[in-house]
Amino acid sequence: MVTNNTALAKPAGARAWLESIQGKRQYDINQVLYRCTQSGSLLNVAHDMDALRQTSAAEWRRLFDARMGRWDFPNASGIWSKREWVLPDIDPAHIITLQEGRSPLLEMPPLARELGLEQVWLKECGTSHTGSFKDLGMTVLVSHVNSLIARGLPIRAVACASTGDTSAALAAYASRAGIPTIVFLPAGKITTAQLIQPISNGAHVLSLDTDFDGCMRIVQEVTADQSIYLANSMNPLRIEGQKTVGIEIIQQLGWQLPDWMIIPGGNLGNVSALAAGLDMLLETGIINQKPRLAVAQAAHANPLYTSYQKGFADLEPMQAKTTLASAIQIGNPVSFPRAVDALQRYNGVVEEVSEAELAHAAALADRQGFFCCPHTGVALGALRKLTGKGVIPGGASVAVISTAHGLKFSEFKTAYHENRLDFDATYRTEVIRLPADVQAVQEALKPLLEERA
Ligand SMILES: *Cc1c(COP(=O)(O)O)cnc(C)c1O
Repeated sequence: MVTNNTALAKPAGARAWLESIQGKRQYDINQVLYRCTQSGSLLNVAHDMDALRQTSAAEWRRLFDARMGRWDFPNASGIWSKREWVLPDIDPAHIITLQEGRSPLLEMPPLARELGLEQVWLKECGTSHTGSFKDLGMTVLVSHVNSLIARGLPIRAVACASTGDTSAALAAYASRAGIPTIVFLPAGKITTAQLIQPISNGAHVLSLDTDFDGCMRIVQEVTADQSIYLANSMNPLRIEGQKTVGIEIIQQLGWQLPDWMIIPGGNLGNVSALAAGLDMLLETGIINQKPRLAVAQAAHANPLYTSYQKGFADLEPMQAKTTLASAIQIGNPVSFPRAVDALQRYNGVVEEVSEAELAHAAALADRQGFFCCPHTGVALGALRKLTGKGVIPGGASVAVISTAHGLKFSEFKTAYHENRLDFDATYRTEVIRLPADVQAVQEALKPLLEERA
């Protein structure tokens, strides 16, 4: 077993397969399958943990840390630097990477002080190739498809429904691999930046007169034909990449745990992924305790919150209302059962935030040097509510997952600062319009300079 360098350290017998979440029925990972053929339940990727446990926790930490300092292929990727835990059998020649992951974990001391917390970290997943965490999952899914095509499977295209970020990530990775991409977008419900991303990558962009849930229904039917491969997170290959986010946070903290992790949830693949990564840290003995999880939803698209209020009652699909957090405007989340399982195992809670709460939370964080997307605003709004209620106790440490870059959501931020939303933008900054005249400029700056004198 290699520990002093970063060579591929595939432990003897390490392998992964597909497994149904109900009944644990197993399938070959190279089968094109999105649901259990018996029960119809979702599938997960399962790993031979006995094989991975043959390497000690200390050796895994040393190996992962050594790779984190490298920029060679594939260690430069936060995902493929943990390849034995992701897809142990993939031929490195088939990996399609854009150096995703390895994103900043930033401390927010003023926010922590304000809320009486020991520390708050913001995990900036938006600092990534296409500007959202979807890159983490897409590198794995597209690499896997690339390997399936090389094996001779008759896959002609990849496809997804999207609220904007999934399609951007799929189009980038698939065009890099030379695989045709089809994306189904709800017309008028994504941002300009998100729309132009797949267009630029040469994807087949289909804009449909429906919402995300409507697009999701259609893509599931279209991909029943095995020549079009489904790239939504109901496909567990996505989860395999996304699960590294929690592992990476804990690694960045020197393998220490935050008390809580907060994540915004829409289709609910990402919270399931977060828990799947934590599971592997626990099962390899790298951590011995569990953080608690919180999923944050927009009140306008809150089916998980509603279920949580009733003790995780069965999902009641809803018609999601328009929300500033457009990437989580989802009323019928496909990964609902995975998310409930994750929250129950990690003593989790669900919080909802209003449009005003999410926008103010984002604006306040921006005043500390961030540029929060509205979904990160949902997570930060939930942090404020959960600490206010004492659910997250004083003195706790909290990692907040920021899911996208604010630059993709400039319409949201512009509307806030121009006070064009249907609540008062308390923390807005106004542009000062002046003639190009030094005296006028000096006059206008006087109050600021006097205040700081
Ligand atoms: C996709 C997305 C989410 C929601 O993730 P799910 O896995 O669908 O719950 C949150 N924020 C952003 C920016 C996203 O793109």
